[in-house]
Amino acid sequence: MRKLAKDLAIQPKNLWDELNEKARGEIEPLAGRYMEFLSRAKTERAVLRAVVENLAARGLVDLADPEAKAPKGGWLAHHGKMIGVYAPGRKSPAGGFNLIVAHGDSPRLDLKPKCVYEESAPGFGMLRTNLYGGLKKFQWLARPLALWGFCALADGRTVDIVFGEDPGDPVLTVPDLLPHLDRKVQRDKKISEAVVADKMNLLAASVPLGSPEDKDRLKLAVLKILHDRWGLVEEDLISSELEIVPAGPARAVGLDASLIGGYGQDDRLPVFAALEALKEASEPERPSLFIVYDREEIGSYGSTGATGNFVEHLAARAFEAAGLDSRWSRVRAALMKTCALSADVEAAIDPDYKEVHEELNSAHMGRGPCLVRYTGGAGKYGASEAGAEYMARLRAAFNRAGVLWQSSIIGKQEEGGGGTVALHLAAYGLNIVDCGPPVLAMHSPFEVSSKADLYMTVRAYAAFWNLL
Ligand code: MN
Ligand code: MN
Repeated sequence: MRKLAKDLAIQPKNLWDELNEKARGEIEPLAGRYMEFLSRAKTERAVLRAVVENLAARGLVDLADPEAKAPKGGWLAHHGKMIGVYAPGRKSPAGGFNLIVAHGDSPRLDLKPKCVYEESAPGFGMLRTNLYGGLKKFQWLARPLALWGFCALADGRTVDIVFGEDPGDPVLTVPDLLPHLDRKVQRDKKISEAVVADKMNLLAASVPLGSPEDKDRLKLAVLKILHDRWGLVEEDLISSELEIVPAGPARAVGLDASLIGGYGQDDRLPVFAALEALKEASEPERPSLFIVYDREEIGSYGSTGATGNFVEHLAARAFEAAGLDSRWSRVRAALMKTCALSADVEAAIDPDYKEVHEELNSAHMGRGPCLVRYTGGAGKYGASEAGAEYMARLRAAFNRAGVLWQSSIIGKQEEGGGGTVALHLAAYGLNIVDCGPPVLAMHSPFEVSSKADLYMTVRAYAAFWNLL
């Protein structure tokens, strides 16, 4: 019976049982580098900067420079928020690429264009926020928050802001109502209605300017700080991207420190893992492409989202870097022959809410990256779904490379559902499947992943880039 089971049935494996001494030795330094990346790349712009730094250190160049020689490949950044990477293989780009796509944006609070106001009776200068992405509002109350901003001034200068991350910095916070008085306005309501988005505003100042007979003393107090510290006036905020994220660094989690907790692991764990894998898979057969999109969390619309045609421009640059004619029909033909992974995190089975998962098919933390044939809601609605032949190629490649992986789909049918950028790339006729590590508390200020899954995700992406 044991032999039959071994020969015929999928054997679920906990990575911690399988990893040898050498692998275990590599996990800690890898997790350390990842947590450092996660702590300093808290916005899509910061992700882009970290990616460029990493690539430049390895000798890749900016492909936007037509003079640049790119023997090791290079990157193409767009609007400071989306980036594509090309690394040559032994074969010509004309035969198609191995492409990994991920996203650098995460759910957060943004500041509204006109965000500074005051509540003079309680005595606060305040900042108005706007939700970005699918977050559970109550998780963002009564906790330390940081402001990451990028301001474009009318004279062409730009200003970067990071406030609340240095342990010595003050932080921002959205106070929550005390339980003693919350019965009517919160406690007796549905959880989705208990916290109102327009009541999620930040405390910014409480020392008024001027004297009691003056007007707008607290609003002006906030504006004066913005001016003194960063040279901004109120109108500058209208041309700014001001993002409110959980303050503080990523941390190891658990008495055994085997897990990683931190903001934005969806989707920065796959971004980091893909970068690590790119380093390992040097000189693959097929040329590699890697794209970090923006705006995935709000539907992938906009000029830096995956519904755009950036992949065509990146592929064309790759053709040019390889000395090929980059006419449109040839680039499109290469995209048709491209193999892709949508590198996004998967919902791990929550130990306290097992009932929303279908255990046989849901992702188990610690069993490696998930191959997710389809995402979507009820009835596979909105899913691109990978074909059987492509699934077969990938599982064969993973098994050959010793990658421990699992097959999963998100949750039970009719519980909700979700999607990734996969369908937007699939529109080019290429093969694509979702592949990423399981994450707990997804979209929360403190998402949790496994160090072992991080390690094996790097192995999986490296194996993918070596796909023949
Ligand atoms: Mn994601
Ligand atoms: Mn997400």
